[in-house]
Amino acid sequence: MHESEYIAGQTFFGRSDPAELLARFGSPLYVYNESILRRRCQDMLRIIDYPRFVASYSIKANSNLHLLKIIREEGLSADAMSPGEIVVLEQAGFRPEQIFFVPNNVSADELRFAAERQILTSLDSLDQLELMGKILPGSRVAIRINPGIGAGHHEKVVTAGERTKFGISGAQLFQAGRVAERYGLRIVGINQHIGSLFMEPEPYLRAAAYLLDQVERFPDLELVDLGGGFGIPHRKLSGEQRLDLRDLNKKLTRLIRAFTDRHGRDLLFKSEPGRYVVAECGVLLGTVHAVKETGQTIYAGTDLGFNVLARPILYDSWHDIRIYRDGRYLDDSETKPVTVVGNICESGDIIAADRPLPDLEANDVVVVLDTGAYGYAMSSNYNNRLRPAEVLIRLDGEPVLIRRRETYEDLLRYF
Ligand SMILES: *Cc1c(COP(=O)(O)O)cnc(C)c1O
Repeated sequence: MHESEYIAGQTFFGRSDPAELLARFGSPLYVYNESILRRRCQDMLRIIDYPRFVASYSIKANSNLHLLKIIREEGLSADAMSPGEIVVLEQAGFRPEQIFFVPNNVSADELRFAAERQILTSLDSLDQLELMGKILPGSRVAIRINPGIGAGHHEKVVTAGERTKFGISGAQLFQAGRVAERYGLRIVGINQHIGSLFMEPEPYLRAAAYLLDQVERFPDLELVDLGGGFGIPHRKLSGEQRLDLRDLNKKLTRLIRAFTDRHGRDLLFKSEPGRYVVAECGVLLGTVHAVKETGQTIYAGTDLGFNVLARPILYDSWHDIRIYRDGRYLDDSETKPVTVVGNICESGDIIAADRPLPDLEANDVVVVLDTGAYGYAMSSNYNNRLRPAEVLIRLDGEPVLIRRRETYEDLLRYF
């Protein structure tokens, strides 16, 4: 898979190459490939064989308007965590019934914001359910359930189980029913999200089974949302295997069929993938500006600070890196440990520590793979750095600018 998508640069970058793209659009630069994005959307629509199943893209992973339009064209619906995400989704052409608002700890105004647009909201605590009851009694709502099972690549992204802030626990469900009754709220949806970047299906399946077991408590139920978190192999260059979607499909389909045979209820099933949809269609390009040796360490100093890509310092996450020079990728059979750092004034500003890489020089192009998810979305202006531009390689191989680079005027705009 990675042979065609990443290593043969011509395929990923269409009719351009990384150096040309930087010359034309500037460095650093996020580059997305439309064909890979569409393929990943199609993967996610096929994880359950059931006529009323829809994948709902969790847009916090990447909310570029142009990518959202493609995702909508592919037939996914969308999850929003904030009013700002709802605004962007509306602009991308999603209809209210295609948007599911799954916030936590929001104000009455934010709940009204979704309700005025006929967007279904999931409440994730008894207090928030009560708030909804007070401001909009009698409305249709969903609740987020904490199934007591978590999963994920880092404790910061495990979003269920006892040690997280999310959801209403099993022990509180009875009370949730009482709150709903008191305000005439109809609980038409239940959802969960156990965490991010799982590569084995078991925790997801166990949590799905748990959620299905709760269905009988809710006579008005129309929808069951099993959550997201589907992982992608971040270490492709060393042969990491993909999440086995066929296996996941077989097991999920069996679970859902058994449920519908038993209950005969015609429910809508959803999942909430974020990363899986967008991570692999994106790479981050940067430029080496200085190489130095300090003690035992070789530092490659680049323009890829953690203002551009925060995942390595937030989660210690690994991104595969390739180096492009003079029209080709450098051979990485002969390597030395190199610490790739950015241009931010903090010693933690490290993209990859002691990474086996070929001999680097100033002006080499650094290609950081699988950065389409939580890359640009988590970028910032720290150190008054400008957020980079984003470019999409269209199906015909042409690069188009889908978000301009920030300017110094942008930095001054709010004063
Ligand atoms: C972030 C999030 C997702 C998506 O998670 P991924 O790991 O990107 O798939 C899904 N649902 C909820 C509620 C989330 O907060």
